[in-house]
Amino acid sequence: MDKKQVRTRFAPSPTGYMHIGNLRTALYAYLFAKHEKGKFVLRIEDTDQKRFVEGATEVIYQTLKQTNMIHDEGPDIGGNYGPYVQSERKPLYKDYALQLVENGNAYYCFCTNDKEENTDGEAEQTFGYNRHCRNLSKEEIEKNLAAGKPYVIRQKMPLEGTTTFHDEVYGDVTVQNDSLDDQILLKSDGMPTYNFANVVDDHLMAITHVIRGKEYISSTPKYELLYRAFGWETPKTVHLSTIMGQNPDGTVSKLSKRHGAVSFAQLLEDGYLQEAIINYIALLGWSPRMEREVFSLEELVELFDIEGVVKTNAIFDYKKLDWFNAIYINEMSHEDFVAYSQKYIVNLPKYLQEKWEFASTLAQTRISKFNDIVSMFKFLDEYTDFDLTLFENKKNKLDKAQSLEILKDFAPILQNTQDWSVENLNTLIQDYTTLKEYKIGKTMWPLRIGVTGQTITPGGGAEMLYLLGKAESLKRINRCIERLAQ
Ligand code: GLU
Repeated sequence: MDKKQVRTRFAPSPTGYMHIGNLRTALYAYLFAKHEKGKFVLRIEDTDQKRFVEGATEVIYQTLKQTNMIHDEGPDIGGNYGPYVQSERKPLYKDYALQLVENGNAYYCFCTNDKEENTDGEAEQTFGYNRHCRNLSKEEIEKNLAAGKPYVIRQKMPLEGTTTFHDEVYGDVTVQNDSLDDQILLKSDGMPTYNFANVVDDHLMAITHVIRGKEYISSTPKYELLYRAFGWETPKTVHLSTIMGQNPDGTVSKLSKRHGAVSFAQLLEDGYLQEAIINYIALLGWSPRMEREVFSLEELVELFDIEGVVKTNAIFDYKKLDWFNAIYINEMSHEDFVAYSQKYIVNLPKYLQEKWEFASTLAQTRISKFNDIVSMFKFLDEYTDFDLTLFENKKNKLDKAQSLEILKDFAPILQNTQDWSVENLNTLIQDYTTLKEYKIGKTMWPLRIGVTGQTITPGGGAEMLYLLGKAESLKRINRCIERLAQ
């Protein structure tokens, strides 16, 4: 028999932004489908119309496009299993809900409780439903329907025994049936709840593997019962561990804004490259079981497997993301780097923008994210009377007096040169160093510190002088001489 074609889906609710956890879900669903030469489907889950956000579906399309996770079917491109937006599928859910009423697995409920209405069953989980309408007589139901009473349709849970489903990551999961509430399947406005729609849609869209966050694992027994009530084959489920963030006190909690940027858009804005983000989150919950960590999307497709998906919660480490990002930035062609950095250099002084072709070569090997550029070159614009102890340096056997001497020697050398190229500036530094029988670091240190006011600079003395230009460099050096001499 032919193996069934693997079909996975990414089923986001249009919330207006792409949380890193959702992006990872999309990635795993994409990688698995592509690894298995199957199909990756995009379905928009917008049954909770109250939460509708303008432009939110655009964010989803854009993210998938930016990350090259190209879907094979979806609202924008169609496919054989459409429509791919749940609100457009509204009429069909009622038929399926009625089928369950018919075969005794669901029932009409005429109770009016605002808290239970129009929620995706969330309020219910807190309050539980007292099953008042579970045993209404046929006549009562007919009467209520004829009177046009609003109703919801609820799932009739077994009251005894247990339900077990198998998860590809977490293994067999068993629950006591009496712990399952008679959840709403169809709301009074005819919209399905998420809990119902996901089952109907996954079945109708022939999804073979449901890949989603672990927060859905506790609801999955209810879905299992729905599949059985319809007599449908249950897709395999792959629940993913939660992405946590590190709190300042050392504890961890679910990754949220207080830990840092959590949306894909914000990470891009901060200057992370999409390739680095994807590479990093691929490893947040999946292990390739090898030493290597840097993988392109194509390589991830090649390697991805469900056996490598881990149960333990992953911790989002911004430092590690910086590390990945620095690697990808380094690998960019310099031309791409310059083009990509344009939007980050608008806050830099004009003369740096003009010298960006040179400064960018310094930046490319030194930044870990693009918005580091601004702080890295801030010294060009901001220069104050810094702490003179910065001139003291053990390694170069320098104290303030020696630094003063070097600066005093060097100021006229700089004053007299007409050639302000990096090459010539380096020659001047070298010649002076040779003459004095110093080590190069000794000459470089006071110059570099003197003109930047910081110990960490995006290049050596000559580069810094070049960036600042002759007039500004001399102004700063003279100011240091004046201060050191006091
Ligand atoms: N719409 C759900 C969400 O955005 C999707 C859950 C699922 O993948 O089934 O969380």
